[in-house]
Amino acid sequence: MKEERKRKPLSLSRRAFLKSTAALGAAATVAGGHGHLLRQDRALADSGKEAQIIPTWCHGCAASALNCAVLCHVVDGKLVRIEGNPEAGNRGVRGSTSLCAKAHTAIQYEYSPNRLTYPMKRTGEKGEGKFTRISWEEAMETIVSKLKEAKEKYGPESYCHMVSEFYPPRDQVARRFLNIYGSPNYSECALCHGPRYLAATCTIGFCSEAPDDWSASKLIVNWGSNCENSGVNQGGPNGLLDALANGVKMIDIRPMMDPMASKADEWVPIRPGTDCALALAILNVIIVENLYDFEFVSEWCHGFDKLAEHVEQYSPEWAAPITGIEAERIVQLARTMATTKPMVIKTGNGVGDQQNDGTSAMMAIVLIEAITGNLDVPGGNFGGYNMPTMIPTRSFFVETLLDRLPEDAYDKLLAPSYARDLQKLPNNVSPVGFHTPQSASYKVLKALLTGKPYVPRVLSAQQTSVLSQLRNPEQNAEALKKADFFFVMDQYGSPAVDYADIVLPACSLYEQSHNLGTKNGPDGTWVGIRNKAVEPLGESRSDWQFWLDLAVMMGYEEDFWGGEMDNCLREQLEPSGISLEELRESPRGIFVERTEPLPPKEYRRYAQLFAALPHGKVQCYNE
Ligand code: SF4
Repeated sequence: MKEERKRKPLSLSRRAFLKSTAALGAAATVAGGHGHLLRQDRALADSGKEAQIIPTWCHGCAASALNCAVLCHVVDGKLVRIEGNPEAGNRGVRGSTSLCAKAHTAIQYEYSPNRLTYPMKRTGEKGEGKFTRISWEEAMETIVSKLKEAKEKYGPESYCHMVSEFYPPRDQVARRFLNIYGSPNYSECALCHGPRYLAATCTIGFCSEAPDDWSASKLIVNWGSNCENSGVNQGGPNGLLDALANGVKMIDIRPMMDPMASKADEWVPIRPGTDCALALAILNVIIVENLYDFEFVSEWCHGFDKLAEHVEQYSPEWAAPITGIEAERIVQLARTMATTKPMVIKTGNGVGDQQNDGTSAMMAIVLIEAITGNLDVPGGNFGGYNMPTMIPTRSFFVETLLDRLPEDAYDKLLAPSYARDLQKLPNNVSPVGFHTPQSASYKVLKALLTGKPYVPRVLSAQQTSVLSQLRNPEQNAEALKKADFFFVMDQYGSPAVDYADIVLPACSLYEQSHNLGTKNGPDGTWVGIRNKAVEPLGESRSDWQFWLDLAVMMGYEEDFWGGEMDNCLREQLEPSGISLEELRESPRGIFVERTEPLPPKEYRRYAQLFAALPHGKVQCYNE
């Protein structure tokens, strides 16, 4: 039972403790900056006035197809409260009202004083942050004339668009614009899930951060995942808390003692950014002490001997000063992870995406999952389950018209190796965003400085701050100064905005009704449209409508639903047989019950899961 489990003493030095409390203090200060908004909202919420309840989708993760459905409480036209919509089946459970902290605090960023509220053009030097207000018409006409000029003078590849991460379906509309315009240079900062997904997929053929049932695990290793504040849609804290209540053991590897770590059996306070060193040392112990799964390794691992040879140098003694974790503790950790079965490792952005060597860290971590025999077993890292949908839609797959991109466009990518390698992954394995040519935003900016392979001329950034999401911010600022023309569409001001020639204010997703989403669970499928909960702040407009308006002004209206978002929504709904009008008449969404029993789950599907890998086996070694 949970009460009987013994908590291991924490090896937290005084210095580390002071550091972590300082960080908590900083976090409190940031939150305090919005305190007046919270008080104001609470006063309105407590005013006794009846709230209007408007169902829509959470804004915390950008892709609506993955979002959680919410109910917005609106008083006097102001958003005062957000709760989960129990009818939708968030996290696969109908009746659930769970949401992440990110969702609940959306009111703070909805009314942030940093919101951009009208179009502007730069009047000062680049980076100076001096702007004057202009009309939408002037802003759009300027952008159109610069895009036309760049295409004619330098070729369509000279236009590069930057986003934070590929978020379907919004970014599929943007990608569609670039395909018609003729540029392959759609680029990402890749700060959420993409790098982690890719590293895992290239090593074990798939990316899994969860078992099929948390309570079927014997050991959960939460490694770099901010699971208490995000990811409700992926099972998030609820599944982990249920598992803990059922006596499942948990180890939490994160620099700070976050709430889940305080409930774990063991917290391993690791020095930030050193996860790869720890993973290599764990591999070292598991291999040196022969704790790996011999049968799995001999049948399904390619290059295991080379891996063993390689990790010989990464002893626990080597990793201890790097990670701040004592060598003996690393040995114990490795033994526990290798011998407690089934074990699942839940990784997060903190380990695979938002650090210098996240790709290598993720590769080493999934190799631990693999050689300990925990891939695609009940309670281990599950290979996925395709639950048939009762309401087929295209809400996740807006057609990007890739066939309209000129054949030679791949040769003009600013980050060619990245995109070419991704194209080799089969569609059922690679994430949907990777099915089109992609660049990396830092390579776009680097090309501005080096002129290699050529000089980008027009840049745009949408919902991304390239000076805070990418490495080398000072160098990137210099690069932005060199762009012939740079326009930004965002909800908030950021350091990168100061370098823009034109700034467009984006409305929040609570201020528009331009997409829809579904929730598919064991009971059935639910589809709901995004309903506008509050009016757009100032002159802000929807990111979706921006692309349609721009396309019309460029003469592409035939490929952009005649500039009408409703037509785009109709296309997404078309396979479902539900009309847009029907969906709008059911603002709380439409649920279709499952009529057939679900197919049974299958495990140990190694031939299928590893099929896309070069040897049909786990890549312990890359030639
Ligand atoms: S997982 Fe959290 S942030 Fe993402 S959509 Fe759900 S509640 Fe919002």
